[in-house]
Amino acid sequence: MLIASNLQRIKNELQKGVTLVAVSKTKPNEAIKAAYAEGQRVFGENRPQELKAKADALPQDIEWHMIGHLQSNKVKYIAPYVSLIHSIDKLSLLQEVNKRAIQHQRVIRVLLQIYIAKEDSKFGLNKDELIELVNSEAFQRLKNIQVVGLMGMATNTDSDLLVRGEFAELKQLFDQIKKGEISTRLDLTQFTILSMGMSGDYTIAMEEGSTMVRIGSSIFGLRD
Ligand SMILES: *Cc1c(COP(=O)(O)O)cnc(C)c1O
Repeated sequence: MLIASNLQRIKNELQKGVTLVAVSKTKPNEAIKAAYAEGQRVFGENRPQELKAKADALPQDIEWHMIGHLQSNKVKYIAPYVSLIHSIDKLSLLQEVNKRAIQHQRVIRVLLQIYIAKEDSKFGLNKDELIELVNSEAFQRLKNIQVVGLMGMATNTDSDLLVRGEFAELKQLFDQIKKGEISTRLDLTQFTILSMGMSGDYTIAMEEGSTMVRIGSSIFGLRD
């Protein structure tokens, strides 16, 4: 089967310590089951209702990651299920996640999405916004979320040089936070994940220090 062999090929390429998120957005449950049968347990979705429907229908030991732009009014759909949200780009969204986490008596792990691309269409915080957010009083009051790292998407381009530079920039920011060179109110013992790299650029992302790659079309085929 194609999914099985694609998955095997990518797993063989993963560097040590890099987690694979199989991005199953728009794909049917059968595709997820095929990857599950090969041992894959971490899946990424970008539509809250779709994540909920799949989580309800598929094995309980799947870790569901929310990877796409998330609207506050949709957090309620994923709050009981989600294992990691990659796409936190503002305080108000984080506050909503915290509120829903309290309702479900859990702590929800999140990544802060950082804007690194030279494109207008991508979401994310810049460095100054990140620093302001994680040093705010309002942030400190959120007890039911845990910031466990950063996420970024590189420019969609053929220029490996540009992509590499953007990933390197994100890695540098990650390291500055991790080492305390940028002072924050984060729990640094839990700050371990650098989510960068998709089908087109995961090799470069790993070379630049990614610990989590989000791969869809190279596993499941092109989306409609
Ligand atoms: C769709 C998506 C991916 C996977 O993209 P592919 O190019 O299919 O690997 C990764 N990250 C995010 C945020 C996405 O929306």
